Order: sequence, then structure tokens, then C-alpha cells
Amino acid sequence: MTTDVGTTSNSAQASYPPSAAFTATANAGPELQAAADADRLAFWAEQAGRLDWDRDFDEVLDWSGAPVAKWFVGGKLNVAYNCVDRHVEAGHGDQVAIHWVGEPGDSRDITYAQLKDEVCRAANTLTALGLKAGDRVAIYMPMVPEAIVSMLACARLGITHSVVFAGFSAAALRSRVDDAEAKLVITTDGQWRRGQAAPLKFAVDEALGSGADRAPSVEHVLVVRRTGLDVEWTTGRDLWWDETVGTASPEHACESFDAEHPLFLLYTSGTTGKPKGIVHTSGGYLTQAAYTHHYVFDHKPGQDVYWCTADIGWVTGHTYIVYGPLANRATQIVYEGTPNTPDEHRHFEVIEKYKVSIYYIAPTLVRTFMKWGRDIPDAHDLSSLRLLGSVGEPINPEAWRWYRGVIGGGRCPIVDTWWQTETGGIMLSPLPGITATKPGSAMAPLPGISCKVVDDNARDVPHGEQGYLVLDQPWPGMLRGIWGDMDRYRETYWSRYAEQGWYFAGDGAKYDEDGDVWVLGRVDDVMNVSGHRISTSEVESALVGHPAVAEAAVVGASDETTGQGIVAFVILLEGVENTGDTLISELKAQVSTDISPIAKPREITVVPELPKTRSGKIMRRLLRDVAEGRELGDTSTLVDPAVVEALRAKR
Ligand code: ATP
Ligand code: MG
Repeated sequence: MTTDVGTTSNSAQASYPPSAAFTATANAGPELQAAADADRLAFWAEQAGRLDWDRDFDEVLDWSGAPVAKWFVGGKLNVAYNCVDRHVEAGHGDQVAIHWVGEPGDSRDITYAQLKDEVCRAANTLTALGLKAGDRVAIYMPMVPEAIVSMLACARLGITHSVVFAGFSAAALRSRVDDAEAKLVITTDGQWRRGQAAPLKFAVDEALGSGADRAPSVEHVLVVRRTGLDVEWTTGRDLWWDETVGTASPEHACESFDAEHPLFLLYTSGTTGKPKGIVHTSGGYLTQAAYTHHYVFDHKPGQDVYWCTADIGWVTGHTYIVYGPLANRATQIVYEGTPNTPDEHRHFEVIEKYKVSIYYIAPTLVRTFMKWGRDIPDAHDLSSLRLLGSVGEPINPEAWRWYRGVIGGGRCPIVDTWWQTETGGIMLSPLPGITATKPGSAMAPLPGISCKVVDDNARDVPHGEQGYLVLDQPWPGMLRGIWGDMDRYRETYWSRYAEQGWYFAGDGAKYDEDGDVWVLGRVDDVMNVSGHRISTSEVESALVGHPAVAEAAVVGASDETTGQGIVAFVILLEGVENTGDTLISELKAQVSTDISPIAKPREITVVPELPKTRSGKIMRRLLRDVAEGRELGDTSTLVDPAVVEALRAKR
């Protein structure tokens, strides 16, 4: 029999209602939820009207082939046309689409008209290389405008792109190129990283191999000059971007594709295991991207300056840098480098200079800013900001309050957005102007989306108790499968609640006393101590609540007496002295009072860094491996494997 360790102090926190001023001009009003409740499919059909369709759809949803959905059946559209051309045709060609900021300090402003020309040139080049609709192209590039142009050129031609994070190894690239049977790889000579030009094309050469080991599907490699580093050249295979795309015609008439035409495949972060190649299609995905970007970020085209700091190598970059914002005619910042190059002021200088109004980041960055200290943001005029977003992990209430107070000046609503690579777009989030937000809670499904928190028997859990987050209705941006492995698709997401036909998200969650949803992290991360289920995120939030702690990661390690014992790793704020045993006892006491004595960690280790994925998530499964003295699992998506080795040595 398991019981849940009581609700933490989190659920008792105050809520933050929207200001009357924000509500007065908010995109979302109460009629949105009412419309979705009245007729969900009619609601989505209306949202699809945000896009330009070349042929209207005959049916909103065909779920007869569940769990593979067809949305907007019979409809035809061109995704790139929707993101670029139509804005130019509507007279907004001179609006800046992208304020691009390079790491060494160079910058480019690209208007919608210029973006259209570039995308057309790239599309003409890909066509000249013999690529056609249905082919796959791998994109292995840093955050340069050509990466976005490449994605849109593929979309324009009905080519399925697979973006591979430019920080991944040659081996990771190779496995993704082979899995997708990509015919083309688009890359750069090198990339700027922390003030250094680092080679990138070199990794492509290594990945693609030669002779018997050659990647069989790849015909060409298209190379953008970014750093000027020397590269090796394979004649016949390799082409320079400036000599091909640069000289191609900017005229290109686009064709329309079926709503269910595959737009991209993208691998998950690998936080819980081997990454999965998630498949997304066109009409439903773009509808959800545009709808969520409009309402969740309260985006006003022509007025806002929007900045999502994700990398295009993960899904947030796909949906909230490329497809959602561009479909909605956003003016946005795209930044090439890390937040501390040349120094920790970088992001705040960009916000100040471009008057950024919407800022969307991951909790890991909030905690990093906290660690650096508030003097840094305080040195800048951040008054242009009016809305803040968070994505990627549960945000600790302490970090949420800091984000709101220090970055948001106490006036900006925070949207804590829960979603996954698999969901394509945001699923749970407060609606700015409507929702009274609570620090640490993603609150509720968006209008048109439906979720439940249930137990093993598919029953709703009582308020305050932990359960599993499931999505009980199909949604337009949902994945259509795992590339080349439909069995794994059914098994991973649809087998747990097969009878009910619900999507199993793999995340734990609870309702609070008001019925609002709190996502508690991965199901795999939930700990069981003497029969009590304790969520890692709640213990971490209690630790981060201590004034000395910047970040915490907690795992359950097997324990002879209690089943699992709680092992914690903490990073201290900069300048804080580590008082050893005194600090450790204080931290244990903090968890004990905040949650329960049962949740008190068995061990707490102060560490300089935590193992994270490239998308900034803590990899608890590797910490579990360390805590239990096991061989490490798949580390291919880790930022820096040396971090885990250092932790191992410390224990
Ligand atoms: P893998 O599936 O390979 O283990 P991953 O789940 O980390 O990798 P993503 O699709 O990038 O890959 O991440 C989605 C997950 O991120 C969600 O399932 C959830 O655990 C977490 N997440 C994202 N946003 C939030 C949020 N706002 N609050 C809580 N958790 C979040
Ligand atoms: Mg996942």
C-alpha cells in the first residue's frame, strides 16, 4: 500500500492574478474556453483558419486509425508559404522577421521579404540537387539564420527535415542520418562557442565516413561559411552555400501538400533513455503552433519583440522559433551563442537593445541567473518585457518568484508551459490575462486540449495525491509515430491505457485543492521511500528554497531498509560559503519541515555542476546510476560527460 507524502508548502502558495491592464488587451478571453467546451472539433477547425489553405479540409479529425490521427483531412497547404510569403503578400515585407545576434557581436536584421528570397533560393538549390517531396534532409547547424532558412526550404518542398543539435557528436549525427536515410546534410564550416571558433564540418566528414564505412544515403553536403575555419572538401559531394544558394533565383512557386504530409522528424532529449525519432506532419502541427503561440504568449504582430532562447535542435526551437512565431508574423531575436559570452550580461543587453517584450526560457537558465546574482539583470533596463515563459522542466517555486520579481519587475505574467517533443506544441499553460498563476504549476490544459491525472486503474486521483498525466483526447499537433518503429510508438505511449485509448505522457502529476495541475517530473523519477511516494521535483524545490542553494537534483537510490533512499546533489549560489556538515543539516531540516521527515535526503552532496541534456534538463537517470554505482546508461545527449565522471569521483 502506498501513500503520498502530504502536499508540500507549494500548493499553499499565493496565486498571482493578472493585472487589469494586461487583461484589457489580452488576446485570450473567457470565450475561448467556452468555445472549446461547446464543440472541440469545431473549435480546432476555427483555429485552423489562422492558416492559409490551398484546399479546404473535408473532415477535422479522423481517429479511426488510432493511435495514428489524421487532422484536417483532405486539406492542402504549404507550411513555408504560411510562415513567410503570405506576410509579404499582405504588405508586411519590410517588417523584420529576425533580429539575428551573432556570438562575436555581429548582427543581421532580416525582413520577411528578405527571408522569402532566401527560402526561395534555398528551395531552388535543393531542387537542383535532385531533392523532392518525401526525401529527408539532416540539418546540423548552429543558431545562424541559414538554419531557419534550411528548415523552411525543406518545408516549402515537402522535404522532411531532421535537425540534429550542432553540439552532438559525429556518432550521434551518423545514427540520425542513417535512421532517416537523409540524402543531404546542411552544415556550417564551424561554430562560435564561448568566444572560440570550433570546427563543425569536420564532424560531418567524420560522421559520413568514407569507403566501406560511407553513410550510404548521403549524396551532398551543403556548407554555410560562418567562422572561416579551414575545411576538408570532398569534391562532387560538398557544396558551398554562398556558391549555390547565394547565386540561385529568388523566384520559386510553391506547391501545396496534404495536411498529413510529414514535416519533420526530431529526436527527444534522451532524458529517460535512448532518444526517439518523433514524426510530425503539417496542417495540425502548424495549427497548434500558431494557436498556442498567439494565445499563450499573447503575441501581437508588429508590436512585440519576441525571444525564445531555445536551440533549433530541440522541439521548442522548431515550434516557438520557426513555425509558430513565423506563422504569426512575429519579429524575433535569434541569438547564436551562450548566455555568458562575452559575459553574463549578454541576454540582458539584448533585451535592452531590441526592447524584447516576450522572453521564453528554460528553468535551468533562471537558476543560472539566480546563481550569478541579481546585480547583473539589475544593471539593465528590462522595462520592455511584458510576458515571461518557462519550458522544459518543472520550475521550482523559488526560481519562479525570482524570475517574476527580478527579470519581470513584478509586472510580467509567467506562462509555465508543459509539453513534449511528442505533443508538438504547448498543452498545459496558464493563459495570460485570464489565469491567476501559481509558482510551480502549469495550471490547466489549454482550451481544446484535455488531460487527466489518474492512477494505475485509470481512475482520477484525489486532489493532492500523485498520479500519471494522460491526454485523453487527440490533439492537432500530436506525433504521428516514431520514425521507423511504430511498435515502439504504440508500446511507449498507448499500451499503458490501451483500453481507454489515452496517451501516457510519462510524467507524474497531481491536482491541488483547486483542481489545478502540477507536473511533478518523470514517472521514472518518482521515489518510493518506505512505501511513500515522493516526487523528485518537490524535494528539489524545498532544497532550492534554502538561501544557499542555486540548483538541486534528487534521485531515489535503492536502500536495504527503506526500499529507496533519497540522494541529493546541490549547487550553491556564487559567493556562498560551504559550511560542510552545518549546511547539510540545515538542508535536511529544510526538507523535513517543508515536506515531511520521510522526504529527508539520506545523503546530500555539494557539487559544482549537474549532468544535463543539451536542452538543459537534469539527467536524473545518470545520477541514479552514480548513486547506485552502476554503469552509465546512454550519454549521447549529455552536454559534458566529464561532469558525471567528476560526480562519481566525489562519492
Ligand atoms: P526523452 O523522452 O528521450 O526521455 P525528454 O522527455 O526530456 O526526453 P522532451 O520532449 O524535450 O524530451 O521533454 C519533454 C519533457 O520535459 C516532459 O515530458 C516533461 O517531463 C518535461 N517538461 C517540459 N516542460 C515542462 C514544464 N513546464 N513543467 C514540467 N515538466 C516539463
Ligand atoms: Mg520524453
